[in-house]
Amino acid sequence: MTRPHISKALRKSIAAEAGHRCGYCLTPQSFTAMPMHVEHIIPLSAGGASDESNLWLACPLCNGHKGAQTHGVDPVTGQNASIFNPRQQQWEEHFYWSEDGVKIIGLTPTGRVTVLLLQLNNEYLTQARRRWVAVGWHPPQD
Ligand SMILES: [Zn+2]
Repeated sequence: MTRPHISKALRKSIAAEAGHRCGYCLTPQSFTAMPMHVEHIIPLSAGGASDESNLWLACPLCNGHKGAQTHGVDPVTGQNASIFNPRQQQWEEHFYWSEDGVKIIGLTPTGRVTVLLLQLNNEYLTQARRRWVAVGWHPPQD
């Protein structure tokens, strides 16, 4: 499948709209040494479009784990649930930070499926978050 071109202007606009941070793990662009990805919320392979309404910012880790997935099984209810949509849903309604600020906890089936499939508490993120908490950069206050 040929990936449609996303213009530099559109990438810039998406990054600004997303507050220059990953829509899933909320890692700010300024904390990483790698550029964020402009990702397809609904993957191209699932019929997602390459227009602004289906694009958001994601860190390379979240985007890599997400791949072409759209749904998963909630480990608590056993129900099929969709992955969090950072453009249409509110992060705080589906997730919260653990007391030490290091882990993302899913509140809803969508939140739990997203934590699981996107590995939002992978060792790379949790190690970095521990250091960010220690210097007062994390968790985000908004
Ligand atoms: Zn991320």
